[in-house]
Amino acid sequence: MHEFKYKNNRLYCEGVSVEKLARKFGTPLYVYSYATLIDHYSKLKSAFRQINPLICYSVKANSNLSILKALVSKGAGLDIVSGGELFRAIKAGCPAERIVYASVGKTDGEIRVSIKRGILSFNVESIAELENINRIAKIFNKVANIAIRINPDVEPKTHKFITTGKLTNKFGIDFNSAYEIIIQRYKFTNLNICGLHMHIGSQITEADPYVAAILKLASFIEKLKGQGINLKYLNIGGGLGIVYDKENPQTAEKFAQRILPLLKKTGLKIIMEPGRFIVGNAGILLTKVLYIKSTPVKKFVVVDAGMNDLVRPALYDAYHQVLPTSYVPCPSSYEKVDVVGPICESADYFAKERKLPYVLAGDYLAVMSAGAYGFSMASNYNSRRRAAEVLVRGNKAFLIRRRETFTDLIRDEIIEP
Ligand code: PLP
Repeated sequence: MHEFKYKNNRLYCEGVSVEKLARKFGTPLYVYSYATLIDHYSKLKSAFRQINPLICYSVKANSNLSILKALVSKGAGLDIVSGGELFRAIKAGCPAERIVYASVGKTDGEIRVSIKRGILSFNVESIAELENINRIAKIFNKVANIAIRINPDVEPKTHKFITTGKLTNKFGIDFNSAYEIIIQRYKFTNLNICGLHMHIGSQITEADPYVAAILKLASFIEKLKGQGINLKYLNIGGGLGIVYDKENPQTAEKFAQRILPLLKKTGLKIIMEPGRFIVGNAGILLTKVLYIKSTPVKKFVVVDAGMNDLVRPALYDAYHQVLPTSYVPCPSSYEKVDVVGPICESADYFAKERKLPYVLAGDYLAVMSAGAYGFSMASNYNSRRRAAEVLVRGNKAFLIRRRETFTDLIRDEIIEP
């Protein structure tokens, strides 16, 4: 499942001891495994080989250029949500015809560049947006490819903050409105409405919600066919869940077994937008123990990473396994602790009431499964410099983002004269 394994009680990323990386590059430090990243992409590609989908990796999960480049060089496209992500996609060498763009709030500037670049598709989220893209495309005398993002109103059975396919969410367009738009597509002279899109949520561990949504979209596609309207693309979004704790998410093969027959029946070219599934378990956050603090009721392990580096526990109460980077096997030395960061918020934690082997100040800990929505959600809160990132390939480690400096923190600020 991933290439972070113990050898002689020391944690390795592929062929490299993570402790050595911590000492060389400092902490907090994100470490990614190239083999794991590519393995997850290939597993999905292979599970769906019968229909050869375009897998557009979701840049928001982890937008480091080296991660994007690695996937793009294997044939992946990219799913973007902003002008900044388009900039990154281009810098990483992604051909425009492999880029799809979703977001409820695309600005005129973002639409303009995307049209000029000739991206594969805008995943459109409202009628107002559709009209705006049409207006801008007309100015450039271009025709923009459009997929209507459908809100299929299904329950993905995941955290409410990462549920996106219910009618109460801000995303997508309901079936009736989508039907009206498509029937009257001739009104949009500079749009080619050629696809449907859905994305029902994230960290979804079973196929049922996808099956429910795809069935709804498939019957909509049939209804359109009945009107002589043949679409080209069906984009089923991302959202595939991974193991953080005791989840037992479907494998890519199992997922494919359930939904392939439905997808094949549509006869459309399939696009997918996985983020977490590809990069989630391909990364860890390394942190150093600063202090051990015991109170009358608790023991705290205070580390040098904080919620600014990895916000998922604070934001979603998310679980991440926390492992020592080296240990002496001794079951009696395990104790219950809270692993907390240095930030001035009680939400600044990585583990609560967690049984960990006895650790001392100066030891290193690995916060596992931190590859997705880790660095990409990092901030400078408390004026903390964002961490460095390292990509391991076999026995080699490459610095793919240097640690920020104090000067970086104030680079864009102007002291009032
Ligand atoms: N596609 C869209 C439109 C999204 O909003 C997201 C995540 O929010 C994704 C794809 C990727 O989701 P995940 O990382 O769960 O696969």
